[in-house]
Amino acid sequence: MSKMDQTPSGERVHIAFFGRRNAGKSSLVNAFTGQELAVVSDVKGTTTDPVYKAMELLPMGPVMIVDTPGIDDEGALGEKRVRRTRQVLNMADLAIVVCDATLPMGRAEEELLELLRQRQIPHLLVRNKADLLLRIPDGDGAVYTSASTGLGIQELKDKVASMTLVEDPQRPLVSDLLSPGDVVVLVVPIDKAAPKGRLILPQQQTIRDILDAGASALVCRDSELTETLEKLVEPPRLVITDSQVFDKVSAVVPETVPLTSFSILMARHKGDLEVTVEGARALAKLRSGDKVLISEGCTHHRQCGDIGTQKLPQWIRRYTGVEPEFCFTSGRDFPEDLSGISLVIHCGGCMLTRRQMRYRHRICADQGVPITNYGIVISHIHGILERAVRPFPEI
Ligand code: SF4
Repeated sequence: MSKMDQTPSGERVHIAFFGRRNAGKSSLVNAFTGQELAVVSDVKGTTTDPVYKAMELLPMGPVMIVDTPGIDDEGALGEKRVRRTRQVLNMADLAIVVCDATLPMGRAEEELLELLRQRQIPHLLVRNKADLLLRIPDGDGAVYTSASTGLGIQELKDKVASMTLVEDPQRPLVSDLLSPGDVVVLVVPIDKAAPKGRLILPQQQTIRDILDAGASALVCRDSELTETLEKLVEPPRLVITDSQVFDKVSAVVPETVPLTSFSILMARHKGDLEVTVEGARALAKLRSGDKVLISEGCTHHRQCGDIGTQKLPQWIRRYTGVEPEFCFTSGRDFPEDLSGISLVIHCGGCMLTRRQMRYRHRICADQGVPITNYGIVISHIHGILERAVRPFPEI
């Protein structure tokens, strides 16, 4: 695997291609990426689900290209595709609106451009199939391309790569809390839920961020934590634990040593730590039958094991003494309508972009539904929330 391929999707700039069916969008995406990414045919609406492709676009760096179904798709299935396309808007950092150069722009494109302006997503208008024009107009701000002849493809790449992203200041995972030479102890339980032969993404990213700060990361299992701490000449600058063993680790680590969890670091990096801490208060108001949505950013092979699906529901039942109803979402799915939901508990979201995570926060805020995070809930339940957020100056 090349170095570039290893950049997690949640850390890539997402560039989404939108357009009506048969605007030549998928052919353009293939020409842009230099690969057969999307199925292309003359039949309208060949792209049925968004298609993702990671690539390097210099000087921007690692990006994720997203090809979307047509914005004018029809029928029941078509509506579903259009909904999926609109969901991509919630993760797009940049948008390319593709239309057929031989046809006038229609309402579909106008509406899409308006949505992009409202959401302040930087975008470019591309007029494709320009090889069919007798003369290429200039001065209208659009990029004229032809996926079949290659006309304008390099110009499009250059323009996209030099576009300015809307600044969304992202807090580092942990490096801003460290100084060169600091030692950080990471506690990683290796139980049957841990993936074989590797660490999960939040752990890998945290180690990398510690190294970027010029500090050292010392990784051990919870079973070796006591002896690891004893071997250190000085107490560590910080201990970061997997949330599942928060209570056990908190009992071992002296009160004077700052302690937090990977999940809380992620909540700070991707979303809004203050909001998620506030959201945990909703646990006290839960009644039997209230609906709690537990949401994870991974799909098939859950990287965070069974915390969300099994352990959290058990701990919440035991802590509150009531029987809430739990429902679950995973991957890119997240309901736009939260009617009937009393609380959302989200994982760290390491696979999601910050824009996606913040959009989920906005859905909750707009509908008055509290949102919190795995690590925050677990530390709250074990009575150590105050300690777990003490390392962060913003709290
Ligand atoms: S469940 Fe969430 S935090 Fe865990 S690996 Fe998946 S996206 Fe990342």
